[in-house]
Amino acid sequence: MSAEPDGPEDRLRRFATIWSRAVFPVTSTSLTRREFEEQLLPLARRLSEVLLAHGFDAEEARQVGAALIDAHCTDPEALTRTLDCVDAYLALYCGADGPQDELRMRSSRIQHAMAAGFAQALRERTLAEQEAIAQAALRAQGVVAQALHASEARFRAVFEGAAIGIGIADLDGNVLQVNGALLRMFGGSEQTLRSRNVLEWAHPEDAPQTWRLYEELVRGDREHYHVEKAFNRSDGTVLWTNLTVSLLRDPDGEPQYQLALMEDTTERRLLNLRLRYEATHDALTGLPNRTLFFERLEKALSAGEGQRFGLCYLDLDGFKTINDSLGHSAGDRLLVEVADRLQSCATAPGEMVARLGGDEFVALTTGRDTQREVDDLADRIMNALVTPISIDGRELLVRGSIGIVEGPAGERTPAEVLRSADITMYRAKSAGGNRSELADPEADARAITRHGLTTALPAALDRGEFFIEYQPLVHLGDGSVRGAEALVRWLHPQHGVLGPDRFIPLAEHTGLIVPLGRWVLEESIRQAREWRERYGDDSAAGPLRINVNLSPCQLTHPGLVQDTVEILERTGVAPDALCLEVTESALIGADDDLLKPLRRLAEMGVDIALDDFGTGYSNLANLRRLPVSILKLDRSFTQSMQQFPADPVDLKIVEGIVSLAHSLDLAVTVEGVETGAQAEQLRILGCDTAQGWYYARPGPPERLHELALVDATG
Ligand code: C2E
Ligand code: MG
Ligand code: MG
Repeated sequence: MSAEPDGPEDRLRRFATIWSRAVFPVTSTSLTRREFEEQLLPLARRLSEVLLAHGFDAEEARQVGAALIDAHCTDPEALTRTLDCVDAYLALYCGADGPQDELRMRSSRIQHAMAAGFAQALRERTLAEQEAIAQAALRAQGVVAQALHASEARFRAVFEGAAIGIGIADLDGNVLQVNGALLRMFGGSEQTLRSRNVLEWAHPEDAPQTWRLYEELVRGDREHYHVEKAFNRSDGTVLWTNLTVSLLRDPDGEPQYQLALMEDTTERRLLNLRLRYEATHDALTGLPNRTLFFERLEKALSAGEGQRFGLCYLDLDGFKTINDSLGHSAGDRLLVEVADRLQSCATAPGEMVARLGGDEFVALTTGRDTQREVDDLADRIMNALVTPISIDGRELLVRGSIGIVEGPAGERTPAEVLRSADITMYRAKSAGGNRSELADPEADARAITRHGLTTALPAALDRGEFFIEYQPLVHLGDGSVRGAEALVRWLHPQHGVLGPDRFIPLAEHTGLIVPLGRWVLEESIRQAREWRERYGDDSAAGPLRINVNLSPCQLTHPGLVQDTVEILERTGVAPDALCLEVTESALIGADDDLLKPLRRLAEMGVDIALDDFGTGYSNLANLRRLPVSILKLDRSFTQSMQQFPADPVDLKIVEGIVSLAHSLDLAVTVEGVETGAQAEQLRILGCDTAQGWYYARPGPPERLHELALVDATG
């Protein structure tokens, strides 16, 4: 051996040597190990180039995987060993000291591409072979028939020299002759093989048509057939074959023998099963994975009339903390233990457990009675988690949140069901975790649209999808319309008209409330000016006033005062025609900084109303401090006056609030007046103005003119 440090060529050669040593024992090549290594060397070179190339060339790696098939590495073990070898040594020997992380990532992508190329090439070869074997069968039929008639010697040569298994039986199924290849496939002696009748080779996995085709052939109604068939070997193992059976006729054309040609496909089948298993199972826990789960769920959802499904979607509480504090290997072991426990919860027919990824698991139950079963299943899962899990001598308490979805087959897609389960699981989590919740279609719909609405909000403002309805404010003393509250709505292209409760919280959350609020302010002040221009100031009580709601976020926005002043000036509307409504809760505990902008607006003459008063438990004495001139009593007070006579205690409370408000120089408006009796009661109690369906529902601006006109003339 040379003492010189290795150059890249030496290292490449080393990699090829290791690779060939690992794979050689499981190939069916006729080369020597060294010759085989020479065959792998160019492949190794191509891999090392893919490893070091600037961009990743998946196709090249696929082709190397495919080339393994040409090199007779068709055994599944050859692929496994190749991938192990690439994983452990490619970057090490061919990585040229590149950054380790990138090399590792590249190496694993190479492995994926190679496995894909390998599997595809194998599939293609199988198809080609099936074609070839069918052709061979046709030819053999001719050749063997001829040989049988011509010369025994020639027949023997064809028979024995064949690489595929060949057997001949009479039409009663008695085996007459088998060749060496067939013997090797079945194992055992020629004697035992020949002592059996073809009919004894029925196998539980036979396709339904297999024996019908056989009958047709021995009757002489069919010349040949081709099936995939399993045989039990004498040692108890199973042999899978591509089987072609042909009918041999005598020179007069009478059926005489049957000729079977078979190719051993056992290993290929195992590989396919294994590839399928790997594609449908989670490597860590061995549970079915997302792919398999979706297949099953799809099947459950397309089951017939009367069939139902129940789904538990489990997410561990605080798993990330465990993972971060104890390390990934501890986290992995915990997941394996959880998987085992879950599996023992769902053992009945029609039940399955799968891992969707991370710490998310699902359990599925199907049948007619899943309403009851799914609850039991969720209970079993919760119970299974109760016992702490012991890892590295620590007892870890594992808790989980479960979202349950149950329903009839045939109504929803798998994706819809899973989304509902996911949303419900989050509901369980946000309620504190360690519990299960049942899906609620309404809550789902809200959560689904919430996301969609949030993303659609900004464009909606640009596209002019918002509009404002106005609800009159009526003077309780003389019934005249004094103004209106502006209430914003969103004409959503899909969902139709949405009320502010659906989108104001989202707009607040995303900050869009500032431009939206500014638009509402501008639009409703413009409307107020239009009312005045068309109907003048001569309604009974002066100009119509406009009430606009402000969100807490707008209060803290630095542009509030300036924007408002600018809009009032531009539209030429006097500040005292505007009332800004701020909810009581936004002002509880407000400090002077927060109050400053409101105070400045109030000083200019803008009215500030305390909206929804009575819901926020504010200190009445505190009202003095606030730059507020109007109290808007919350709807709940009005509601308690629905019966007649109203609860005397409620009446006393309202009376007390009104008199206190008046003594502080505050006007009182009541909301939610729905009946004449309520209106009368509130008038007697001394409230100043009222708003509610009794007078009018919120509506388009023209409606207000009508009301105001009826008023002025009536
Ligand atoms: P709010 O300011 O307390 O508005 C009164 C709500 O009561 C309105 O609901 C109105 O339609 C409803 N209402 C009126 N009369 C009656 C009645 O007789 N009975 C009943 N049951 N309800 C009545 P809406 O329009 O859904 O508005 C809900 C809330 O959305 C408003 O409560 C307000 O806080 C907010 N909002 C509306 N427009 C805006 C806006 O432009 N900006 C901001 N920041 N918030 C707004
Ligand atoms: Mg309001
Ligand atoms: Mg209100």
